[in-house]
Amino acid sequence: MTTEPVTETVATFCSWCGGETTGADLAGSSAEHERCRARLALVDPPRHCPECGRRMVVQVDPMGWTARCSRHGETTSASRGQR
Ligand SMILES: [Zn+2]
Ligand SMILES: [Zn+2]
Repeated sequence: MTTEPVTETVATFCSWCGGETTGADLAGSSAEHERCRARLALVDPPRHCPECGRRMVVQVDPMGWTARCSRHGETTSASRGQR
């Protein structure tokens, strides 16, 4: 009877390289995708959907970027900047 809180979407794919990520990656304790996260933390848009690993359609404009997954919709630089 365990009820796990589902308050957060857990990414299972690296949104930079599209590789699979683990909990350790997300927590920042793994070095495997450290460089990917570093790039994403700067100005580079994600290339892959973190939820399904598909390649996203990325559009860059002066205000930032918009990345669209055909399954999961848009992610924008503004929405990512909140974390
Ligand atoms: Zn990666
Ligand atoms: Zn997706």
